[in-house]
Amino acid sequence: MVSTPASVDRAASSSCQYLPAVAEGDGLSPNQQLLPLTAAVTAADHLTVGGCDVVDLVEQYGSPLYILDEHTLRTACRQYRQGFADYYPGESLVLYASKAWNCLAICAIAAAEGLGIDVVSGGELLTATTAGVNPDTIYFHGNNKSAAELALALDVGCRVVVDNWLELKTLGEMATQQGKPVPILLRVTPGIECHTHDYIRTGHLDSKFGFDPDQIEAVFEFLASQPQLNCLGVHAHIGSQIFELNPHADLGEVMAQWVVTAQRYGLTLTELDVGGGLGIRYTEADDPPSIDTWVKTVCDSVVAACNAHQIPLPRLLCEPGRSLVGPACVTAYRVGSQKVIPGIRTYVAVDGGMSDNPRPITYQSVYRALVGNRMGAACTETVTLAGKHCESGDILIKDALLPVLRTDDVVIIAGTGAYNYSMASNYNRVPRPGAVLVHNGDATVIIRREALADLLRQDCLPESLR
Ligand SMILES: *Cc1c(COP(=O)(O)O)cnc(C)c1O
Repeated sequence: MVSTPASVDRAASSSCQYLPAVAEGDGLSPNQQLLPLTAAVTAADHLTVGGCDVVDLVEQYGSPLYILDEHTLRTACRQYRQGFADYYPGESLVLYASKAWNCLAICAIAAAEGLGIDVVSGGELLTATTAGVNPDTIYFHGNNKSAAELALALDVGCRVVVDNWLELKTLGEMATQQGKPVPILLRVTPGIECHTHDYIRTGHLDSKFGFDPDQIEAVFEFLASQPQLNCLGVHAHIGSQIFELNPHADLGEVMAQWVVTAQRYGLTLTELDVGGGLGIRYTEADDPPSIDTWVKTVCDSVVAACNAHQIPLPRLLCEPGRSLVGPACVTAYRVGSQKVIPGIRTYVAVDGGMSDNPRPITYQSVYRALVGNRMGAACTETVTLAGKHCESGDILIKDALLPVLRTDDVVIIAGTGAYNYSMASNYNRVPRPGAVLVHNGDATVIIRREALADLLRQDCLPESLR
């Protein structure tokens, strides 16, 4: 796989383009790019994504606007699947961790690319089934699924990734009542450390997710007496936005040992789900491994561990979210007001902020921006891109190196496909933006922009207050 020194060079130059190293990005791993693979610049010096001019898109669909590049999303899906075909001699299934961005169109694209869907709530489950995803390929996660959510899972017939004792017992009773076995996986905390933001580490032992590995024998013993719970396998998720390969290189051995332990209780586990977590390039300082390298690491680790323990190769699953959808999307904003504090800082405000991208305020995430209507303009200013919300921390990018910005410029922030729309809010009663899917010069609305009236939809004004 080609890495991206060329885009680093261009980023370091004055023109702020961050373009992929090769036109259409053939062979590039989307998670190593700062912009979607189709990003290009027109003769008028505008950015295009998926063949659509971002300035035209904002004129037609308004701002802020999520612009999702279908080619980049599909390419990432294909690279994951191709990696398993190349490096894993057994069966495999890639799941899209849809919490990164759960909506009908993205679930449908992932399914069309042969991926299953990982969901973490009744709402995400409903979205996946409504998008037409085959229930056999839906895996339902979550550390506190409600009885109603479990009932929905049983109704749909998806797999349930059981997180804890309460869920195990509740599900056992529900399965007995319905008289039909329920396919489950067990989520176990693998006890593997990795270096990422504290909030997005889940694999070390002090985590709210999954069974503690010390409990696993008790769980298998319980399951041996519960034939209505059909335990297919085990699941582990180490964390998110991970650049190291070692945690996943170590995971195969840890999980193979669980399979061996299960054998002692008469349980044959045939599925291993290694979770997601591959990082993406938000800035030129981020240097994640390619999708291909990550998949190879996972496959090699599982194959080696299974051979060492002389167990058959299980069906191998992984569930990337961020690395599938993150690099495929950019958000377009319009520039509004500015505040210059001489000698201190210039704030440039855009027409969105923490309501459409809560990651900077939540995780101190860093992004890159460029000016979609003046791609060639030299970056001569360091400014702070601020949102429009009533919160001092509503800053999208601190100290961004950009051209001099003017009101109505179209500012593009890259890498916004994951955990942006899915974490968006109506803070300050700001309507959530719409999203368009772009491909070969066509744009299709996949999420309608909220109207002001939508904000009142759930409000009730009691008679006594009228
Ligand atoms: C969040 C999550 C994922 C996806 O993580 P990414 O970093 O987006 O790839 C996969 N599995 C589980 C259980 C998760 O919680």
